Amino acid sequence: MGVLLLFVDGIGLGEADPEINPLARARVSRLRLFRDCPSPDPAAILVPTDACMGVPGLPQSATGQTSLLAGLNAPAAVGSHINGYCTKPLAALLDGRSLFSRVKAAGRDATFANAYTPGFLEKPPRFLSVTTIATRQAGLRIRTLEDLARGDALFHDFTNRLLPERGCYLPPITPGEAGRRLAVLTAAHAFTMYEHFLTDLAGHARDMARAALVLENLEALLDGLLSHLDLFRHLVVLASDHGNIEDLSAKQHTLNCVPTLLWGEGAGAVAAGIRNLADISPAILHHLDML
Ligand SMILES: [Zn+2]
Repeated sequence: MGVLLLFVDGIGLGEADPEINPLARARVSRLRLFRDCPSPDPAAILVPTDACMGVPGLPQSATGQTSLLAGLNAPAAVGSHINGYCTKPLAALLDGRSLFSRVKAAGRDATFANAYTPGFLEKPPRFLSVTTIATRQAGLRIRTLEDLARGDALFHDFTNRLLPERGCYLPPITPGEAGRRLAVLTAAHAFTMYEHFLTDLAGHARDMARAALVLENLEALLDGLLSHLDLFRHLVVLASDHGNIEDLSAKQHTLNCVPTLLWGEGAGAVAAGIRNLADISPAILHHLDML
């Protein structure tokens, strides 16, 4: 029984308006997700999830991701929504509380599926993402380009096409193959997390063609993942931290609810416990019999 947390940055439930919303424009089916609409995929449960958490202002990545991973209201705890990278107060909230740490403390196997490049590992940037901090705090093995070459990791774009931007090269793979590799990782661990953030970047860029392509690739990843994973045994939870890509009329994030999409074993029970970002971690831990 494995759980995959497929974290997709900056995707919200907006209007079904093809002028501003690439989810209404892209050739996708599972991802045709809009406000007040049921999941277009009958196999999935969609939970509109509050990312604002009662804190004024636009929801942001660092506090949203901390809420997701640590199961607490991070913007309320630190007093505001915090953008971008992990701050010291957020790292303190995450320490020992993240899904990675909790699963490991329960004696089970947790992993972060993203591959890091040699350049990153040799000279880590000054500011690190919430997921990188949580992975380090939990003492998890950092996946590398060697893992990626063997098919035991995914790059953040999941096709390897953006590796040359980091001075690396591996043959590109299709999104469907990336989904298959993610299915294998999911089946081999109690808890796996994968992070994809091209959605948020496309939203900030306000580029409809780029956003539609990102969503079509993501749909193909989901197709590969779900067709290779035994959904009678495993659970997939797609979650986001704040809206953005669903409204290209504005450059910044949105106040929209974000989709939490669940497929597989225990999806109904896990979905029933989710109202806002802070509910996702405890619902997953409960599912894993760790709460
Ligand atoms: Zn953003």
